[in-house]
Order: sequence, then structure tokens, then C-alpha cells
Amino acid sequence: MKLIKAVRGTKDIFGDDGIKYDYVTRAAQEFFSNYGYTMIKTPIFEETDLFKRGVGEGTDIVEKEMYTFKDRGERSITLRPEGTAAVVRCYLENKIYAKEETSRFFYAGSMFRYERPQAGRQREFNQIGVEVLGESSPILDAEVIAMGFSFLDKIGITDLEVTINSVGEKETRVRYRESLLSFLEPIKEELCEDCKMRMEKNPLRVLDCKVEKCKTLTADAPIITDSLSQEEKEHYETVKKYLTIFQVKYKEDPRLVRGLDYYSSTVYEIVTNKLGSQGTVLGGGRYDNLLKQLGDKEIPAFGFAAGVERIMMLLGDEFPKRDLDIYVAWLGDETKEFAFKLANDLRLDGKTVAIDYNTKAMKAHMKKADKVGAKNVVIIGDEEMNKGVVMLKDFINRTQEEIKVEDLKKILK
Ligand code: ATP
Ligand code: MG
Repeated sequence: MKLIKAVRGTKDIFGDDGIKYDYVTRAAQEFFSNYGYTMIKTPIFEETDLFKRGVGEGTDIVEKEMYTFKDRGERSITLRPEGTAAVVRCYLENKIYAKEETSRFFYAGSMFRYERPQAGRQREFNQIGVEVLGESSPILDAEVIAMGFSFLDKIGITDLEVTINSVGEKETRVRYRESLLSFLEPIKEELCEDCKMRMEKNPLRVLDCKVEKCKTLTADAPIITDSLSQEEKEHYETVKKYLTIFQVKYKEDPRLVRGLDYYSSTVYEIVTNKLGSQGTVLGGGRYDNLLKQLGDKEIPAFGFAAGVERIMMLLGDEFPKRDLDIYVAWLGDETKEFAFKLANDLRLDGKTVAIDYNTKAMKAHMKKADKVGAKNVVIIGDEEMNKGVVMLKDFINRTQEEIKVEDLKKILK
């Protein structure tokens, strides 16, 4: 019989990877909660128009990466390619802006993009991300950038570089677009096919092209920071000032534009040189126009998303493994019920406990305890059991002592 395999571009997460995934998402949630973020869960699929309008028609995502299908009711449905549009939809739909001045959301979950699968690039992948709605202060920009950076730093990912830029408001981009187009027009025929298309739809994205030839050809293109208005420049300067206050080293990259249309003003990425061309671990920025685009509201917003698989690759083996507090070894059928009750009590008491259903011999127990990495082994023999004592073996220091059952919990604390 032919075994059915996981679909190309998808990946099961289990075993140590499962522990690692859990560690990363939990650590993020815990860390971001110190800054006031709470969990938001939006559906994995949405009406296709949400992404067309939210992410933007001219983007790679909408043009060629979306998983779009008709459901049985003939609705056009799309598996979410990113998290922000749905968070904004939820925010507008539930009029959350009427209930609180500033909202801070954290999310974690899978996203879907039809891309060419390779290391660090999948068709179903996981992101953790945050969105802040209702605050326009540049201090927030710096705070969120610093928060993401500090999180990665805290869980042990080093050698990261923060690159930032400001792409200004719409008027600035319109002005810049003109000067960029006059630069691109004479070299148009030498650019890649995608870039020719981008010139029609969204010329700024030409600067984001990964093709070497395009990069070289556009090396001397005009930069957007020269087109910023006074107000935009001031915003950008304050972001940088506060990044310094928060002790985040950054590099300015005037070519950084990001792949989604909704960004305005501050954009940034956190990049590593350890993952080849899949080096962007985290990306985000300010998107003050998205709420207008989706709900006709003047509400400023800022956020980021980070790729969990890329974080996991960078973590390698450096994450806390599951700790097994106790292995309960029972010797002979007379002790079985007692042993299982004890194991159950210890678990209810918050301990991680392993116990085997069939093993009765000491030697086999020790092998198993070793294999599962137990820190302690509780050995229950029938003579001891009748005296109300057990043998507690410290499996790390290899010492053991006889103790009363009622003292066991206290000692293990
Ligand atoms: P890239 O330039 O690597 O394609 P992007 O600009 O498309 O990234 P975003 O849409 O900002 O990325 O998503 C944020 C993060 O999600 C990325 O920095 C990356 O870590 C992760 N990510 C994006 N696409 C994928 C994918 N196909 N597979 C795995 N992770 C991804
Ligand atoms: Mg991409």
C-alpha cells in the first residue's frame, strides 16, 4: 500500500521540535505579556477580498502566493497568508477602538503561501506576531522593535541585525515613486520580468528584488529617506533616538521596503546571516493606512511578525528540554496499585512523572529511567511499601536514601 505523505511545503512538528515550538511560542507570549499584549486568535481562512484589499493587489502574496478556493457555498475563501489583515478586520468588526484607546495583540499560528519550498521557506509556516492599534507615537515604534529584538536575544538567538527605514506617508511615496521611475525607465529592459511588472504596479518593490542583477542595476537608485517630509523625518529621528535609549543597535537601510503594501513610515527587519537567503527572522512596521483601507478609520497601527521555523533553526539544540522529575519503579505485582496511585498523586501535585505499565524488574526499570532522562527514581519494593517507605534515588548524583512516603513530596520540592 502506498503511504500518503505530508503535502509539499508542509512539515510535521513533533518530538524535540514539538518541545522547541512550544518553548518559542510560550516564551514569546510570556515575554510580550509584560508589555501588555494579550492573545488574539482569528480564523485561519477569510474572505479573499480581505487580503486583496489588506495586503494589496500588486504584492507577490496576492498575485501568486495565496491559497484561494471556492467553498461549497461558492464563496471565495483564502487561507491566511499573514496575520495583520485579519487582526485589523476583527478590530474593526468588533469596534474595539470604541472600547479602548490602545489595543495590543499577540498571535501565533500557521500562515499559507504558495512559494518554492526550501530551508526556512515553507508553504505552511508558523508566525508569532504582535499588533498595536490606536497609537501613533514614534516611541511605540521603537518599543515594539526593541521588544521583538529583546525577545530573540533572551531566548538565545545572537548575531542579529536590526535594519530600519522610513517609507513615509502616501504623498511621500507618490513623490518618490516618480523619481524612482525616472531612474528605472532607462534600465527597464535589463531588469527581471518580475521587476518589469513591479514597475507597473508598485515600483518601490523593485528595490526589494532578490535577483543579483536587479540589485546591481538599482544600486544607485534615489533613496526614499531623501523624499521624507519634515514631520516624517522627525518621527524617524525619534524612533532612532528611542532605539538607542532601549539599547538596540540598528542599521539604516534606505532600500528596505518590505513586501506588503500596507506599510507607512517606519519599516524594519531583524536579519541573521546564518540562514542564507532566508535570513529575515522578523519583519514589521507602521501601517497607519490599513485601517482606512479596510474600514475607513483614521487609526494608527504598528506590528511585526516573526517566522517560528526560522527561529527554531537558529535555536538549534539550545532550548530547555522537557524535565522528567520522577520515574516510579515498582518491583512485583503487590506494589503495582500502590505505585500507580503514588505516580498519580505526584502528577496531581505538579510533578512530571513517568511510570511503566509492565516492567517489574529493577534492572529494566533503571534502563528505562535512564532513557527518559529522569532526575529521580522512586523505587517501591513490597517490604518497604508495607513499612510506608520508598527508596528515593537521585539519578543525577547517583545517591539514594530511604524515606517515608509522606515526606516524598516535601523532599522533591
Ligand atoms: P521573505 O523576504 O523571507 O519572504 P517576507 O517579507 O515575505 O519574508 P513577512 O511577510 O514579513 O516576510 O513575514 C514575517 C516573517 O515570516 C519572515 O521574516 C519570515 O521569518 C517568516 N516567513 C515568511 N514567509 C515564510 C515562508 N514561506 N516560510 C517560512 N517562514 C516565512
Ligand atoms: Mg516573502
